[in-house]
Amino acid sequence: MNHKLYGNLIFELSKEGRKGYSLPKNHFGDYEIPASMKRAEDAALPECDELTVVRHYTNLSNNNFGVDTGFYPLGSCTMKYNPKINEEMAALPQFQQLHPLQPAETTKGAQALVTLLGRSLSALTGLAHFTFKPYAGAHGELTGLMVIRKYHESRGDLQRRKVIVPDSAHGTNPASAAVCGLEIVEVKSLSDGTIDVAALKELIATVGSDTIAAMMMTNPNTLGLFERQIPAIEKLVHKAGGLMYYDGANLNPMLGAARPGDMGFDVMHINLHKTFSTPHGGGGPGAGPVGVREGLQQFFPVVSPYHGNFAVMMRAYAYILTLGREHIKEVGPLATLNANYIKESLKDVYELPIDGLCMHEFVFDGLKDKSTGVTTMDIAKRLLDYGYHAPTIYFPLLFHESLMIEPTENESKDTLDGFIAVMRQIAEEAKTDPDQVKSAPHTTPIGRVDDVLAAKHPVTTYRAMLQAL
Ligand SMILES: *Cc1c(COP(=O)(O)O)cnc(C)c1O
Repeated sequence: MNHKLYGNLIFELSKEGRKGYSLPKNHFGDYEIPASMKRAEDAALPECDELTVVRHYTNLSNNNFGVDTGFYPLGSCTMKYNPKINEEMAALPQFQQLHPLQPAETTKGAQALVTLLGRSLSALTGLAHFTFKPYAGAHGELTGLMVIRKYHESRGDLQRRKVIVPDSAHGTNPASAAVCGLEIVEVKSLSDGTIDVAALKELIATVGSDTIAAMMMTNPNTLGLFERQIPAIEKLVHKAGGLMYYDGANLNPMLGAARPGDMGFDVMHINLHKTFSTPHGGGGPGAGPVGVREGLQQFFPVVSPYHGNFAVMMRAYAYILTLGREHIKEVGPLATLNANYIKESLKDVYELPIDGLCMHEFVFDGLKDKSTGVTTMDIAKRLLDYGYHAPTIYFPLLFHESLMIEPTENESKDTLDGFIAVMRQIAEEAKTDPDQVKSAPHTTPIGRVDDVLAAKHPVTTYRAMLQAL
């Protein structure tokens, strides 16, 4: 571990009496802060000079990896480049300094942006009305399911509480349904990775059509496959009286090509932070607007104050306007071409459980040669040595060694070729020098961490760290 770059916490750099600030002169005379509001002891804040602070945080930031530093093929996350014009727009002081409680007549520009973004999303999805309150995709799922629950309740259909979720679904789908107080019933996929319509028909008959609240579908699904049976599925669910929910986190490859509203979906969410840029590594920020067909908008719940994450909406709108109606159509085909190019270039050395054309992403099931003992985890760690962010690993759960790769439309052929060469190199190393791969990463400040321990006993404060030592 390189202590100079990584080891110290700002607290450890603290030296009593050092400071990097000066306070302005007090022009207000002497006001005593009431004793009841004062601390008994000084807060344990680090004391450092300015240069120490600058170096500390600059060195930390240099250990960060983002789309701006390298290729980030994290499947299901659509880590696309965020054009700098988006940041310039989001930083415009006229927007940045808005206060949610200032008089409505002084926020016309912001209101116009909400309306115009809503119209753009309606044009792209075929759904009539959007709410921008949800802060992320999962929050959007919950919001959409609350709309569906209210819809059934408004019709006196209180027994409709079952949500059909495919076995390939993103984990947030069943989680959102459970949080919404609904029951999850799982429908199986066929060996080609798409939903089994015969199994769905049987499932609806078994659980009883009058109990079905909705079916949640992701399209393209988490295997990167277009669900070709949507017309049949939509008919079955609607005939049973349920509504169709579209998990639009994977909308990227559909942009300008096909619209969930036209496919018969009633409710959907969009991950603005995936499909319409915004850097969202490390858990935020996001926006998960929910669209509904005409007649459902009165069921929108209040899940957050004001208009959600406004700056994410600004970036999304800037992104949409930059491409325009004409060029937004190129996003899907380019993302799809990039994914297929990587898949076809590597499938002789990596196991491709479901062959054929994929959309914006695809899944390998580890190395083709299983005799080396090198796992997907090892491959992901070794990629870090070569300067790549790892793909999504061990998801979806349909395979044991899932390695889910999503290049976005922004990546050049040179970048893809570089990644392909490194993936082939790692496959070769797995044969000739497996220990090199199994002990990776070798070049990062920290090697392999105990993920389970970190999740079960997170040490998130300096005090907790001292106690743990
Ligand atoms: C990312 C993703 C989600 C969840 O979105 P968050 O913004 O992370 O809450 C849901 N479904 C799918 C298919 C996703 O890829």
